[in-house]
Amino acid sequence: MTEQNPVFIPGPTNIPDRLRNAMSMQTADHRAPDFVKLLSPVLEDLKKVFKTESGKVITFPSSGTGGWEAAVTNTLSPGDKVLAARFGMFSHRWIDLCQRHNLDVEVIECEWGSGAPADLYGERLAADKSHEIKAVLVTHNETATGVRSDVGAVRRAMDAAGHPAMLYVDCVSSLASMDFRMDEWGVDLAVSGSQKGFMLAVGMAIVGVSQKALAACEMAKCPRCFFDFRDMADANAKGGFPYTPPLQLIYGLRESLNMLFEEGLENVFARHFRIAEGVRAAVGAWGMRLCAKSPDLYSDTVSAIYVPKGFDSNVLTDHAFDAYGVSFGIGLGPMSGKAFRIGHLGSLTDVMALSGIAAIEMAMKDLNYPIELGSGVSAAQEYFRKAFGAIQSKAA
Ligand SMILES: *Cc1c(COP(=O)(O)O)cnc(C)c1O
Repeated sequence: MTEQNPVFIPGPTNIPDRLRNAMSMQTADHRAPDFVKLLSPVLEDLKKVFKTESGKVITFPSSGTGGWEAAVTNTLSPGDKVLAARFGMFSHRWIDLCQRHNLDVEVIECEWGSGAPADLYGERLAADKSHEIKAVLVTHNETATGVRSDVGAVRRAMDAAGHPAMLYVDCVSSLASMDFRMDEWGVDLAVSGSQKGFMLAVGMAIVGVSQKALAACEMAKCPRCFFDFRDMADANAKGGFPYTPPLQLIYGLRESLNMLFEEGLENVFARHFRIAEGVRAAVGAWGMRLCAKSPDLYSDTVSAIYVPKGFDSNVLTDHAFDAYGVSFGIGLGPMSGKAFRIGHLGSLTDVMALSGIAAIEMAMKDLNYPIELGSGVSAAQEYFRKAFGAIQSKAA
């Protein structure tokens, strides 16, 4: 019966029945005249999630990594200089992708657990008097370390330096779970995917594209075909796709947007904050430490937690799976063995979160971790009781 257990990995996330049903579709003809009635409102409604009015949303059948590749190849040319900070596995992989496209990446090396350093971005941009840097890359939510960065601060640093580079943001594990403001932050390319905040199966890259980024497509010389923004935008404008669309996912996305709007985006963000605070209360009660260096960096979608010295986090996550049938995120790259992650995003309630805290607590106790059984659950319960009390007194 372990298929009844939620996963606590930070993506792909739990798929609610409503979305599984919405994706359970017989084949339909994507060249039939009614396809446009499905696609166009989905693309329009996605703009509300990105919080953009001036931009456009372009999707591709791929995982989130394809969204990165599309953002880079459509707007840059080999040899172009880009500025990026590395502070976790996902920011690292984005840098690697740029290098493989022969871009010249200026890397700001940061300690894992820290966030995007707006001040250092500003310094490098101010020093770039001839405006060689074409793009600034920021990972909004570094899923490997559970760190959320301040994208608005990076935008302010770019503006203060008077630098015309475009701003590219990875929001794969933050969009539709934590506040994201594409227009307000002046984001030119915002890359996301279907399998995290949107609670769907993997298979769709979802990219917010500014007018400036669309204009850059004409000059960009990186080769692209499958991921060409222009082909997709032209086909979408006529109500279609340049190739076979992932129809079931588009139906799922329609229903996912309905769910997000019914709950209200701000309520979705508040729920993620509340559940994350419950998890953090448990971590504190265990006497363990988050990878994120300070509270302003705490992610509301994933927590990376260091295990005590002498313990192996991979043994813990394996044991939780084998003994209790529950999946938690492993430590990635240099954090392998040192930290595990609790994903707390997407289709999740406080009660589901309590079950995850209880399960990992049992696994830790089995392995003789120096924790008191029930301490994390109790701390989270106390936090949730207070949080619900506050909600109820507001409603009364
Ligand atoms: C999940 C994720 C991605 C994309 O990964 P895919 O497996 O290609 O969908 C990119 N960046 C971050 C921060 C992520 O969490």
